[in-house]
Amino acid sequence: MTTAAHWPASARYQQVQDTAPGGLGFVQDLLNTASLGKPRKPDLLESVDTAGEWLTSSLAALGTLDPTAPPPHPLDTRGLTRLRTLRDDLRTALATSHTDEPTPTGTAPPIRVTATISVDAEGARLEPRGTGAELLRSYVLIQLAAATYADTLRRLKVCANPRCRGAFYDRSKNCSRLWHDVTTCGNTQNVRAYRARQKERGLASRH
Ligand SMILES: [Zn+2]
Repeated sequence: MTTAAHWPASARYQQVQDTAPGGLGFVQDLLNTASLGKPRKPDLLESVDTAGEWLTSSLAALGTLDPTAPPPHPLDTRGLTRLRTLRDDLRTALATSHTDEPTPTGTAPPIRVTATISVDAEGARLEPRGTGAELLRSYVLIQLAAATYADTLRRLKVCANPRCRGAFYDRSKNCSRLWHDVTTCGNTQNVRAYRARQKERGLASRH
């Protein structure tokens, strides 16, 4: 079993076994700072104060798993906006990587950050660059790159219930989960709506 870290935002929605391993758990926690779920929880990135509280506690959780975790750093308004934009762009990217969501018209510009690659006798490493929110953005994208190479990124999903959209980590053998919680989100109505969207999409793609 992986080390259980207490991710403050994700813990609002799910069980510890549905959280991603290592630094990817921080990416998931960032996604889950949004106002999601049923009933809706507050957006933790609503203000500099709530964001600061979340960040301190989430980075503390991260620090127990990853010694290269960025140190806590106070966020200013601009930094907060950058982090919120990253969170929302990532959610869109993850949602459209599932079959459920229509691909947005036009190609969304890729999210870019800077990082350093260093190589020594132990191997090559990607290291985050920048300060404050930029350092965090760099760290988040490095975790996504690592998960892409390790082929674990496909397991980080957003719930197929359009009214939920909570991020979860799919540990199922065939990576087939659609809902963050099948009892609250995978009800008959949602399954029917999901199939209808799938069907509509199938028809649309044949034209
Ligand atoms: Zn859900």
